[in-house]
Amino acid sequence: MRILIWFRNDLRLHDHEPLHRALGQKAEIIPVYCFDPRQFGQTSFGFPKTGAYRAQFLLESVADLRASLQTKGSDLVVRYGKPEDEVVAIAQSLQVDAVYWHQEVTSEELASDSPLKQQLAKLKINYKTYWGATLYHPDHLPFEISQLPQVFTSFRKKVEKNSLICTALGSPHQIPPLPKVDTGSLPTLGDLGLEQKTPDKRGVLPFKGGETTGLQRLQHYFWDSDQLQVYKQTRNGMLGADYSSKFSPWLALGCLSPRHIHGEVAAYETERIRNDSTYWLVFELLWRDFFRFICAKHGSTVFYPSGLRGLKIAWKQDWPRFEQWARGETGYPLVDANMRELAATGFMSNRGRQNVASFLTKNLGIDWRMGAEWFESLLIDYDVCSNWGNWNYTAGVGNDARGFRYFNIPKQSRDYDPDGNYVKYWLPELAKLPRRKIHSPWTLDAEEQKRCHVRLGVDYPNPIVDLEKSLQTHETIYNAAVEIRRP
Ligand SMILES: Cc1cc2nc3c(=O)[nH]c(=O)nc-3n(C[C@H](O)[C@H](O)[C@H](O)COP(=O)(O)OP(=O)(O)OC[C@H]3O[C@@H](n4cnc5c(N)ncnc54)[C@H](O)[C@@H]3O)c2cc1C
Repeated sequence: MRILIWFRNDLRLHDHEPLHRALGQKAEIIPVYCFDPRQFGQTSFGFPKTGAYRAQFLLESVADLRASLQTKGSDLVVRYGKPEDEVVAIAQSLQVDAVYWHQEVTSEELASDSPLKQQLAKLKINYKTYWGATLYHPDHLPFEISQLPQVFTSFRKKVEKNSLICTALGSPHQIPPLPKVDTGSLPTLGDLGLEQKTPDKRGVLPFKGGETTGLQRLQHYFWDSDQLQVYKQTRNGMLGADYSSKFSPWLALGCLSPRHIHGEVAAYETERIRNDSTYWLVFELLWRDFFRFICAKHGSTVFYPSGLRGLKIAWKQDWPRFEQWARGETGYPLVDANMRELAATGFMSNRGRQNVASFLTKNLGIDWRMGAEWFESLLIDYDVCSNWGNWNYTAGVGNDARGFRYFNIPKQSRDYDPDGNYVKYWLPELAKLPRRKIHSPWTLDAEEQKRCHVRLGVDYPNPIVDLEKSLQTHETIYNAAVEIRRP
């Protein structure tokens, strides 16, 4: 038996069912990874589809997978090309009996699956797909995916009550050596059409891709620093490495399995403490599950401007305003600090993401897909379901939208950054502002500007919109779309 394992967003050896099943059949294993050129083109609004930070994290993750496979006696075959061509070519030349891989749910990811399955069937090569991206397996949900509740809370309550999360599979001790094959070398960023970009040292973590570093991060966050036990209190922070787990980049590429994290939470609850925080980390992972199942249920509607709700809102594609948002030059410090952090590092906190997405859609009225694609390009933790699902939700076109909900930016800033430490960290031009002015620099008079060494409109922008008025305008537009939609 010879089985080809096609690695995708599952760049790990632990809890890897296709690999586990193949090894269980005493098969020879051919591990393959393909860099798909379609992932290195441009988004529909013209941004690099996989920007340099995420591409770097991906390259590190693939290199780490190869090193781990080598340690176990095998290796990774690397190719640059469409997986449906490359996987078939290797399968044919090495005369494999079967190809196993992890299932995806969204259109671009599925684009390879159908032609691959067709080609393999033509060649009479067996194939099998597995589900490995979520805590809950679809077979263990208390409803069919087509019957998935539209609202997160209802989904959560049902699965918590009726379903079990499987134990993660372990890592193999050994993997049979590869037959003679050109293993290929990893591309460089240049080969992928990207320029090296060194992330700003002020970033929350010096993120490095791969299962090895992902497991180290878990070890640090849970066991070495005990941060898990205060997660619920710290998770809305924006400054520093440990206010939240930072597992997302490793989860997005499958370097960490959510079921493994779940198992570690359970171990932590037995050995250290079980409290609100240990529950809450799993609660957040359920959001991740929810968005993946939502995408599996609704197909491409998550990418439509009208979103899952089918709301035909008159979004604007106002490029000058969009660019002010993207560069962090809106005149609202919380928005600007977060957007500058994203551009400089490829990461932004959850609190930040909610605020900047609300500002773009509710205050600027800009097409939320421009924001989603900007995130897709820059975020090192870009995950198609979490990103597009959250953007749907924040833009008010998600399936469980509750009317025109928005974030009050200065209030959020006061609540989550009371001393302005985060804002000053990313906007050093505001470093001298007193606490009472840091969330509303536009209220500085000429004398205060002098004292604080900042000239509004020169060193730091004046607000690009009036918060109140812009909300009123966009609420009217939103409500008009809801009216039209009403049966
Ligand atoms: C507009 C917008 C876009 C987003 N885009 C992405 C994305 O592309 N990829 C991504 O992984 N997350 C995305 N998120 C969700 C969330 O912001 C990140 O998962 C989180 O900030 C990552 O940091 P962490 O790992 O420290 O999270 P923690 O607070 O430590 O949470 C633990 C894990 O739970 C999951 N999680 C937490 N919150 C959410 C959520 N709202 N939705 C889905 N999963 C969640 C993540 O896997 C995260 O790693 C987005 C949120 C918004 C509002």
